[in-house]
Amino acid sequence: MGAEQATLVLIKPDGLKKSLTGNILTRLSETKLEIVAAKIAKVSKELATQHYVHLQDKPFFEELICYLMGELHSRRKVMAMVYWGEDAINKVRALAGATNPEEADPVSIRGAYGRITTKGVYENVIHASSNEQEAQREIQLWFGPDEIIVDLYPSKEIIAKEVKQRVWVK
Ligand code: UDP
Ligand code: MG
Repeated sequence: MGAEQATLVLIKPDGLKKSLTGNILTRLSETKLEIVAAKIAKVSKELATQHYVHLQDKPFFEELICYLMGELHSRRKVMAMVYWGEDAINKVRALAGATNPEEADPVSIRGAYGRITTKGVYENVIHASSNEQEAQREIQLWFGPDEIIVDLYPSKEIIAKEVKQRVWVK
C-alpha cells in the first residue's frame, strides 16, 4: 500500500475540443481517488512555459507551448484538477498511458484518444504528474492554497495591500 499523494491532472485543449471531459472523469473515477481541486483555466504563455520548463531545450517545445495554450484547437483553456489519495500518481499515470499515444496501451486514455500531429507534437489529451516532486511543483503552479480543499503543502496567511482584483458589480 502506497502513501497518500496528490497529483495534477490537466485535460488538455484537444481533450476539451473532442468532448472527452466526461469520459476522462469517468475513467479517472475508477481509481477511487478524490478530486480536491478543479477549475477551467486560461493558459498564458508564461504558465505553459513554466509547466513544461523541463522540456525547454526540446525541438518540439514551441509547438508544445502552443498546444497547451490551446492555439492548435481554438480552445484557449484546459481543465485542471488535483486528485488525492493512495498512490495517486501511479494510478493516474497508469490510466493515462504512455506519453506517445501510438505506443500507449490502446485502452488507456492516451492510447484511445491521442494522436501524433504532422508537426510531431503528441496530442495526448491529458497531463498527469509523474512523481511527487513534479506534482508539488505543478500543483503549486496551477493552484493557490485556498483553491484546494485539503492542506497539501505548508502555506501562510498574508495581508496583501493594494492587490488589484476583479470583483462582481453589485
Ligand atoms: N511530447 C511530445 N513529443 C515528445 C515528448 C513529449 O510532443 O517526444 C509532449 C507530449 O504532449 C507530452 C508532453 O510533451 O505529454 C510532456 O512530455 P513528458 O516527457 O513530460 O511526457 P508526459 O509526462 O506528459 O507523459
Ligand atoms: Mg511529464
